[in-house]
Amino acid sequence: MLDAIQRVEERIQQACRRSNRNREEVTLVAVSKTFPAEYIVRAYENGLRIFGESRAQEFKGKVSGLADDIEWHFIGHLQRNKIKYVLPYAHLIHSIDSIALAEAASEYAQNHALPSVSVLMEVNTSGEEAKYGFSPREAQDAFLKMNEMPGLDLKGFMTIAPFVSDEKKIRASFEMLRRIKEATSRFAPPENTAELSMGMSADFETAIEEGSTIVRVGTAIFGAREVQ
Ligand SMILES: *Cc1c(COP(=O)(O)O)cnc(C)c1O
Repeated sequence: MLDAIQRVEERIQQACRRSNRNREEVTLVAVSKTFPAEYIVRAYENGLRIFGESRAQEFKGKVSGLADDIEWHFIGHLQRNKIKYVLPYAHLIHSIDSIALAEAASEYAQNHALPSVSVLMEVNTSGEEAKYGFSPREAQDAFLKMNEMPGLDLKGFMTIAPFVSDEKKIRASFEMLRRIKEATSRFAPPENTAELSMGMSADFETAIEEGSTIVRVGTAIFGAREVQ
């Protein structure tokens, strides 16, 4: 696993160099979904501290059993009735994909006196029906609306590129998210639009070139998943 982590690190550094960016501008989230806790322990022993999960109950189970200096990110579709498994423990929720979910999260944060819940707005930049997220057209208005909700601390945007091999289409998807961020940042404080969570194992170099600040990497660290 150390080799895999070092290869990912090297790829991140090369992409940063190519795009004249500092390595410190890009956070690596190791996506451990579907892998047993032992895998996280090994990655932890090899220096990683930031992990991402995409299913609420699996997330809660792993958080409870592992080192408490791990920074946990939630990156999957979150049903409103599962907010309780995620909100109290997540450093950042990448996947706020509807106003209804944002409202429910805001309400939960207030009712449970959580200091504030850091979240990203998920935008469907690929147009693929199967993907969650706000449409690019509605994103800015919805973002500004969410930014008024008490208990939520918006940090920026997240997207998943289309599952295609055409690099141009992948790049266009990341570029679209960056443009949405740039347009929205004219109406919101800079800290609310700072983060761009984009890039996975197959496409994180392209994402970094397009301004990504958080890459979510599973397969390239842990190997192929048997189930999605
Ligand atoms: C699974 C997943 C990833 C990681 O994908 P890999 O291709 O394994 O790197 C990243 N982001 C989200 C939202 C995911 O669900």
